[in-house]
Amino acid sequence: MSKEIIVRRQAKYLGLKRYFTGKTCKNGHIDERYTSDSRCVTCVRETHLANYDKNKEKMTERTRQWQMDNHEQYLENQRRHYRKKNPYKPWDKNYYRSRTDESS
Ligand SMILES: [Zn+2]
Repeated sequence: MSKEIIVRRQAKYLGLKRYFTGKTCKNGHIDERYTSDSRCVTCVRETHLANYDKNKEKMTERTRQWQMDNHEQYLENQRRHYRKKNPYKPWDKNYYRSRTDESS
């Protein structure tokens, strides 16, 4: 293991975001830990990915359903949202192009 072993207190003192104990976490990973909450980096990443995968389909499905049920509202929201971020500039040649880019 090439990583330098740093105790949390030392990491805090040095202002480091992460530290490394060389010990396994409760899930058996040997990885760096976050100084803020001492959670293992691999655990945090796996939790994050699991939640993302779990929610991704649900969210997409819900959004799609809502868009179908409220199509007019959806279009109106998009228009309003876009206008807020990009005030209408008829003289700007990139106006329409940037609008297409944004939706992709
Ligand atoms: Zn872990």
